[in-house]
Amino acid sequence: MDDFHYRDGELWCEGVPLRRIAADVGTPVYVYSAAAFRRHAREFAAALKPAGAAGNGVHVAYAIKANPNLAVLKLLAAEGYGADVVSGGEMARALAAGIPADGIVFSGVGKTRAELVRGLEAGIGQFNLELEEEGVVLAALAKERGLTARAVLRVNPDVDAGTHAKISTGKSENKFGVPIDQAPAMYARLAALDGLDLRGVAIHIGSQLFDLAPLEAAYRRVKALVDQLRGVGHRVTHIDLGGGLGVRYKAGDVPTPPADYGAMVARVTAGWDATLMFEPGRVIAGNAGVLLTTVVWVKPGVTNPYVIVDAAMNDLARPALYDAWHDFDAVAPTGARMTANIAGPVCETGDTFAMGREVDLVRGGDLAVFRTAGAYGATMASTYNSRALVPEVLVDGDRFAVVAD
Ligand SMILES: *Cc1c(COP(=O)(O)O)cnc(C)c1O
Repeated sequence: MDDFHYRDGELWCEGVPLRRIAADVGTPVYVYSAAAFRRHAREFAAALKPAGAAGNGVHVAYAIKANPNLAVLKLLAAEGYGADVVSGGEMARALAAGIPADGIVFSGVGKTRAELVRGLEAGIGQFNLELEEEGVVLAALAKERGLTARAVLRVNPDVDAGTHAKISTGKSENKFGVPIDQAPAMYARLAALDGLDLRGVAIHIGSQLFDLAPLEAAYRRVKALVDQLRGVGHRVTHIDLGGGLGVRYKAGDVPTPPADYGAMVARVTAGWDATLMFEPGRVIAGNAGVLLTTVVWVKPGVTNPYVIVDAAMNDLARPALYDAWHDFDAVAPTGARMTANIAGPVCETGDTFAMGREVDLVRGGDLAVFRTAGAYGATMASTYNSRALVPEVLVDGDRFAVVAD
């Protein structure tokens, strides 16, 4: 967070005043801090050192969907990160960014045959199977090409991750993974197929998780399954523990520090004798970006005034999608405060970022930011209302560049 800081009364990103970016590029614009991305990537990797020291292998695959900007991917590739991709488009980006094919994990509940073939031909590291039939199809496609697909079976551990319903993925009624009680029989059938190297299991129970307990419960269920599989002679060398760590969006949020997560992982996975795989997204990207916007005007309202900004739900969809909170701060705060509704110009009532919130006093023409917009921000942008796709800027030290692609 301190990569975005006030200096002489103005908000800067690293060594660049946001006002300069607004003047050069215009608003709305996403602004990312390269230093923040690097720090988060190093902090997460360091947190897993104890798990590695306890005898397991560790592979970290950044969940590209959180922020698939090529400049961001290149930066994470340089940190030694692999990638978790959920579409052929994301796979192409990961490869274009220089992430080695064998460091790529292909997740996703609806991979098409064309996507499976592209993954096979690119030689990607691992397919995370979401249903038995996908494994059967993948095995056949691989065999036809004289290839072997490395794969794990994603199981649904049926734990309540305690997060927003729309980002919970590990309950039995969610669409993801196979029921854990059916996994042993499926594993046996899939392991017997030519063309498939079934080497383990995967889970991912949800996103924006603050509590380690559901993660630990899910990991223990996975280990019970692994013991059962090994007990009947199956080889299990890779266990994918997913992503999901939360970040701070507002005062009072207390996310789990990656180091605490890493300590839990080390404790729970001691003796697993496998390569552990991780798919962090939000925890790497969330607090590495802001959405910089200009107040168009302050419109009188019945209860509170409406601060109408030039950013909208098509640029940052999370509030409309999940009722998500993003702090809203003036770039040059005066110290005065106001209670206001914050909304964009799109013709939808859902295009509202906040209602009745106390914020910095702003006037028409002022610059402001929505914080913690580096994950699930630009990547969800659309051109609804025929608005241009929002540009993205990467700051590195005292330099910055438009990096939208
Ligand atoms: C979205 C997703 C992730 C990343 O989740 P975060 O909460 O951003 O860490 C990891 N793995 C899978 C399979 C996903 O769908």
